[in-house]
Amino acid sequence: MSLSRALRRLFIDLDGVLADFHTPLVGLYGLEPNALTEADWAQVGEWGLSVPKDDLWQRVQAVGAEFWAELPELPWTQELWAACRAACSEVIVLTTPGPFPESLAGKYAWVVEHLETSKMLIGSPKEACSKPGHVLIDDREGYRKRWEAEGGEMLTLQRPWSPQGDSPADVIAALRGFAARGASPKPAKT
Ligand SMILES: [Mg+2]
Repeated sequence: MSLSRALRRLFIDLDGVLADFHTPLVGLYGLEPNALTEADWAQVGEWGLSVPKDDLWQRVQAVGAEFWAELPELPWTQELWAACRAACSEVIVLTTPGPFPESLAGKYAWVVEHLETSKMLIGSPKEACSKPGHVLIDDREGYRKRWEAEGGEMLTLQRPWSPQGDSPADVIAALRGFAARGASPKPAKT
């Protein structure tokens, strides 16, 4: 896949890309994050905690907006965010909420505090924001078909649940290269 040269808007996902949603999530089940294997994390990322999704959301909702407002950053969060801002004049956080209103409040608070912007869209479906020149960075490869069907292009961030993606370092390097050269932000495979 090649990304077009036109990068008019850059959309970036929150959970699993800029905010560490998954470590606190396993904590809600009393699991020790450091004890989980890569395969375990792959399951976590695919909602595979071997629990019904309803149960999972009930646990998150019990914490309230604070669950999202207090998510830790990922090791690459600030570098990735800065690289996005350098590559494109319009960067918008694009995130799907959990199935309850506290989720929206917590996500908004997180973005304002950690990214110092209020440019974000919380909703679904993501592909409603897709068109030529619109690039999405997300950790869910499953969005690709629907996003690209609308004309946009997608970079998948590599996580244990998306091993086919590009590593955070490669995505950051590609965005920096784009900012410097005005070239395609497609990461070079290393
Ligand atoms: Mg995500």
